[in-house]
Amino acid sequence: MAQVVLAGVGKVYPDGTRAVDDLNLNIADGEFLVLVGPSGCGKTTALRMVAGLEEISEGTVSVGGRVVNRVPSRDRDVAMVFQSYALYPHLSVRQNIGFGLTLRKVPKAEIRKRVEEAARTLGLEDYLDRRPRNLSGGQRQRVAMGRAIVREPQAFLMDEPLSNLDAKLRVQMRAEIARIQRDLGVTTIYVTHDQTEAMTLGDRVAVMKKGELQQVAPPQELYDRPANLFVAGFIGSPAMNLLQGELTGTAADLRLKIGGQELRVGPEVLERRPALRDYIGRSLVVGIRPEDMEDARLSEATDGNRLTSTAELVEAMGSDVLVHFGLETSTVVTEDTKELARDAGTDVLGTLETPHTVVVARFSPRTQVKVDDAVEVRVDTARLHFFDLETSAAIW
Ligand code: ATP
Repeated sequence: MAQVVLAGVGKVYPDGTRAVDDLNLNIADGEFLVLVGPSGCGKTTALRMVAGLEEISEGTVSVGGRVVNRVPSRDRDVAMVFQSYALYPHLSVRQNIGFGLTLRKVPKAEIRKRVEEAARTLGLEDYLDRRPRNLSGGQRQRVAMGRAIVREPQAFLMDEPLSNLDAKLRVQMRAEIARIQRDLGVTTIYVTHDQTEAMTLGDRVAVMKKGELQQVAPPQELYDRPANLFVAGFIGSPAMNLLQGELTGTAADLRLKIGGQELRVGPEVLERRPALRDYIGRSLVVGIRPEDMEDARLSEATDGNRLTSTAELVEAMGSDVLVHFGLETSTVVTEDTKELARDAGTDVLGTLETPHTVVVARFSPRTQVKVDDAVEVRVDTARLHFFDLETSAAIW
């Protein structure tokens, strides 16, 4: 077990592509750190540099206090688990799990012991003599994990290890990986583009965009205090609604104008976000999470913080109902949100022409709202997020 430290790590590929820029991460002994971000943000490259599969262009990587920049991959004492499992089809499960140890000329009895221990941890005891092709996807994934476990490395490096599994199995294996990592206490770096996986697995989550680290924090902090628009839009599902608004009034009686409607912002918000004072009388980006809105007709709150509109789409999810309604204000389109929208396959650019934004609220299943109904939405203004329109940074 060991600490893994990335200090000023950068990667420029031979063709000039900068994949990672000045990445600083200090992963504690036994910690589970998740690297997350959209496709192409450089997370795999970062992991491969730690693994020794990619040359480090700038900065240093250390494992257990030893700088490993010049240490070949096999001598780094880290074990990588790939999304493609990379199992040998002609070898049994037992041989696949023990393969790395055989290569290292570990005594046979020791290999047998470690393989059987790993098989127990992974629930693979009954499959040790099977070939990979006679295993389910989840079992293959376990074999790949087994190969990493028997090496007793200082760190596990996992690159989207669940992406070949179906949705149900992913959830199951996610819990397995969390349990195994906790039991073994091995420092782990886990790469994924799936924010749910990141939030449920990580002790801390590092969000990357275009090779740059945006924020690294425990999952709840990332959700409660996203550092910028990119993190705000990336973490949370459905995504945080980002709208243009204007702060008016005074510190004692602060108002937020959104598309011709007005909400009161209580003094506790200014206490928590003192920098917001400088924005009174100015436009900014308002972030409202779908879960911080409710059907005003069912609300017990008496603060009168309501937005009125018409339901454009109502999606019953069983546990809750997503109500989409329009507001006459601009959608905030930054480079970040454009990119997120592209990833999600939607086209936000169309909304630039008309100042009409569709907001998504998560209502309780008790709501009676139907498409085309008038909706009254109560907003929990204590939970609003605010960002600078130009810099995209959170206002605190
Ligand atoms: P994904 O989730 O799609 O795997 P990622 O976040 O892991 O993406 P990387 O695979 O690390 O991203 O790639 C980061 C950037 O580096 C991308 O722009 C990619 O096109 C580029 N890149 C990756 N490998 C090479 C290479 N061998 N030569 C040149 N550019 C590369």
